[in-house]
Amino acid sequence: KESPSKKFQRQHMDPENSASDDTKYCDHMMKARNMTKGRCKPVNTFIHEPKEIVDAVCRETNITCKNGQSNCYQSSQPMSLTHCRQTGASKYPNCQYRGSDITKQIIVACEGNPYVPVHFDAYV
Ligand code: ATP
Repeated sequence: KESPSKKFQRQHMDPENSASDDTKYCDHMMKARNMTKGRCKPVNTFIHEPKEIVDAVCRETNITCKNGQSNCYQSSQPMSLTHCRQTGASKYPNCQYRGSDITKQIIVACEGNPYVPVHFDAYV
């Protein structure tokens, strides 16, 4: 079974690409990373930074997560992100997305040993 950290990497990590204006990026990536199986995942953020940089966020400032848990951490540095949001016209199984390239600090939830990101909570 896929571990929570592998799931985070599949859903949120894309260090190879820099944020691009390619309008097809989200349509392609949401499908390639298996987020359009069974349903279209409505929103998802990809992080264009090295894994070591993102893993290290688990050692930054501890904050409360949206769900009230206390295992969230905010990056001090802004990161290159692409936020994908399903369009109004999108109909499963033809999931369609609009992408926004942004540079923001990220908030992730961390778990395990090693203590690594398992959930993308927000960007600020
Ligand atoms: P994501 O939330 O990363 O976009 P998702 O929408 O598929 O992914 P989940 O499947 O819930 O959401 O993935 C988040 C994982 O992180 C789950 O295994 C969940 O138990 C775990 N988790 C740990 N801490 C938290 C937290 N504070 N808030 C939300 N999920 C958390």
